[in-house]
Amino acid sequence: MEKKENYVIMDEVTIPYELAYGRTWTQFFDGFREEKILGSKCPKCGRVLVPMRSFCPRCFEEISQAVEVSQEGIIISWALTEYEYFGMPTKPPFIGALIKLDGSDTNFLHLIGGIDLSNPEQVRKTVKNGMRVKAVWNPEKKGHIMDIKYFEPVK
Ligand SMILES: [Zn+2]
Repeated sequence: MEKKENYVIMDEVTIPYELAYGRTWTQFFDGFREEKILGSKCPKCGRVLVPMRSFCPRCFEEISQAVEVSQEGIIISWALTEYEYFGMPTKPPFIGALIKLDGSDTNFLHLIGGIDLSNPEQVRKTVKNGMRVKAVWNPEKKGHIMDIKYFEPVK
């Protein structure tokens, strides 16, 4: 049997949407406006969750207590991204990392910056798990995750 060619239309679908932050995330991002990183403290297990949560995903307890955590912490894991694809938070190259802030019991996903990212080999020698980093704030605050520009290595 003769092989038939499949016709394909390439197109993009754009889906505009609005996401209401709700009470907990509004409080979290209001903290950013004052350069504060807030966590939710579970009344049952005592864990501090960053970003803030309205309930503890382990105990299913409702959380109303907010505590300020440190702007410094350690890198738990990280990845250097060099390829651009749809929906990225920023232009590559960039480092996405899980950061455990002092006073927090969870890992916070953000960017590592303030270092030269042009040479991947050098990046691998510079960035290590367990490395201490601190928040660098954007001067202009929008109540958005990118109010923190990135986390940079602590000298
Ligand atoms: Zn809990």
